[in-house]
Amino acid sequence: EWSRLEGLRQNRIDQLAAIDAAAERLADGSDAVCTVCGGPIAPERLEVRPEATTCIDCAQQQSSLG
Ligand SMILES: [Zn+2]
Repeated sequence: EWSRLEGLRQNRIDQLAAIDAAAERLADGSDAVCTVCGGPIAPERLEVRPEATTCIDCAQQQSSLG
């Protein structure tokens, strides 16, 4: 079970890193920008998912790709 636990731990670390990046972005005062289309990420989305790096449209496209 070690590899599974390690995977979970890595996920957690990735999540924290993403949240850190989001916090830095906010501290910079720069708007969050979608890494896919370069468009703005809605503040409402960032409130729900501070670690989001894509806009709602791109996130939906990615999730529909499965
Ligand atoms: Zn986008």
